[in-house]
Amino acid sequence: MKKRFLYAGMLIASVWFVGCNDESVVHETEHEEHEVHFSYDGETGPDYWGSLKEEWRTCDNGREYTAVIEGAPHQSPVDFETAVPADPTFTLDYNKSIAFKMENNGHSVQFNVEEGSPKAYITINSKAYELKQFHFHSVSEHTELEVHAAMEGHFVNVAEDGSIAVVGLFIDNVADTGNEALESAFGLEIPEEGEENPTPITINPLDMLPGGKVYSYSGSLTTPPCTEGVAWNIYTKHIGLTEEKVEAFQEHYDHNFRPLTGTY
Ligand SMILES: [Zn+2]
Repeated sequence: MKKRFLYAGMLIASVWFVGCNDESVVHETEHEEHEVHFSYDGETGPDYWGSLKEEWRTCDNGREYTAVIEGAPHQSPVDFETAVPADPTFTLDYNKSIAFKMENNGHSVQFNVEEGSPKAYITINSKAYELKQFHFHSVSEHTELEVHAAMEGHFVNVAEDGSIAVVGLFIDNVADTGNEALESAFGLEIPEEGEENPTPITINPLDMLPGGKVYSYSGSLTTPPCTEGVAWNIYTKHIGLTEEKVEAFQEHYDHNFRPLTGTY
């Protein structure tokens, strides 16, 4: 099976090569490339991500449920079954007022740091990763003893060399008052798919986080291209978001989570 995909990949590559001087072919190829989508269901769902596109083949590593071996590459998300150690070198410099714009990218609701905003960082092993965006999944992607939280927040940070570190956040559905900063982010109306809410919102990202211990492990992006070597740090303490905001999110995305790829 794998070989067949490889041949298909080679064929596409050669068409691209032969067609380099022919503008119509180039356009057609670009168009086809653009048409590749992933979803959370059916033939473009998680089981098939690795075969939808050559660059997404790493996603196939997540089809087999395996234990995390410390230091070895693994896919995400995983179930936290044991006392997962926190990386002692993990520090956070998020205490800044940052302007974000909310975008509905078709896979999630994502808040992108506005250009010109103060920069927030996390540091792992003396390497700085700059906060670029945060977004959400429902239900949570990671689990504790295979129990999902209502939602999960991902704060995506990128180092100068392109390596990625994600700060994760378990979010519970609460009846009363949730986390104030998170409530304000979800106070904005979720735009239509592919659209951005034109009004930026200023948030101190530190206010969204519960503090305390994190689960640290080396995993992957939970969406294609499923890049490995992502440094995950997920807070063990949950925060809350009020019921109606969780429901409003779920009206757009009721199951934008990748199934578990293993256990820690
Ligand atoms: Zn995510």
